[in-house]
Amino acid sequence: MSDSKKIPATLIAGDGIGPEIMDATLQALDALGAPFEWESATAGLGGVKLAGDPLPPATLESIRKTHLALKGPLETPVGGGYRSSNVRLREEFKLFANTRPAKTLIPGGRFDNIDLVLLRENNEGLYMGYEHFIPIDGDPHAVAIATGVNTRQGSRHILEYAFEYAISHGRKKLTVVHKANIMKALTGIFLETAYQMYEEKYKGKIELNDVIIDACAMKLVMNPWQFDTLVTTNLFGDILSDLIAGLVGGLGMAPGANIGEHAAIFEAVHGSAPDIAGKGVANPIALMLAAAMMLDHVKLPELGDRLRTAISDTLNVDQVRTRDLGGTSDTKGLTAAIVARIKNG
Ligand code: NAD
Repeated sequence: MSDSKKIPATLIAGDGIGPEIMDATLQALDALGAPFEWESATAGLGGVKLAGDPLPPATLESIRKTHLALKGPLETPVGGGYRSSNVRLREEFKLFANTRPAKTLIPGGRFDNIDLVLLRENNEGLYMGYEHFIPIDGDPHAVAIATGVNTRQGSRHILEYAFEYAISHGRKKLTVVHKANIMKALTGIFLETAYQMYEEKYKGKIELNDVIIDACAMKLVMNPWQFDTLVTTNLFGDILSDLIAGLVGGLGMAPGANIGEHAAIFEAVHGSAPDIAGKGVANPIALMLAAAMMLDHVKLPELGDRLRTAISDTLNVDQVRTRDLGGTSDTKGLTAAIVARIKNG
């Protein structure tokens, strides 16, 4: 492939299992001949260790230049410490839409034939970090306060993306997930905007309905096939995307794409899995599927499809699976099998 056809992209291996699953994913992309020209960067704990910053300026500069990144999971301290580098990246590049598909790759499981797409608002809601404590009587954490913010503009932005996505991908139905019975303003604005936009522009092009988050969680477990494409606010989207990952074999199978107008960052839904980091047993498929979404995004869907087919054949024909999928393979073994499928496919 000539240099003129190379696609510059930022590569953040990430923390915990990040380097192991990124190495596996790069092997698969190399075997495909994917034309990415990688610029390595750091963030999260890796950024703190190497550059004293969980989101070093050089990383931001790289993404500003490439507009494209493949990212491993980044660790965020619980309770205190630095703010999530993932949230900051989504803010910095206005990555307003988080696309998280969950599709059955291994038939015959507890939930078969799952084909769901969750679209999550990525910049607003309760994840804006407007939080503080009020000290009382010597207890510095006597009261905790968080403010959520959803705007008409932000709601329109993700909802327009969701309608257009659902229609252009031939999806059957869009479901708005909310809690407008209790948080009447914060999530009511999202629901209200969805129906306004439906009347204005989308009626007749796709079916629209809505469901309250708690009932949605129950219905997704009882009968997930009643849903097709879900769109929701930031926190609910975060929780439900892990839930739907559970319907298709767990977090090791769930990719995500953070899409903005000027940049796109692809990642696995899961975190850095510190409990298995360094043991060589992590499932790299979620990150590989994110790389396949990245190939679709740069208009190389035939390469994305080859990667998805190689993964499916490895799991189902060769029966090579990691432990989280009930198999005995380690990361290296599964990767070698996927690479062999790519090369011989
Ligand atoms: P986690 O997703 O890292 O792990 C949850 C469970 O799933 C663990 O038992 C883990 O071993 C398992 N798991 C996750 N990915 C797996 C894989 N590829 N193969 C096999 N098993 C896998 O969630 P956590 O433990 O709550 O979070 C750990 C850290 O990751 C935290 O610092 C959190 O903030 C961060 N995190 C980052 C992202 C991101 O970068 N997008 C997302 C979620 C969590």
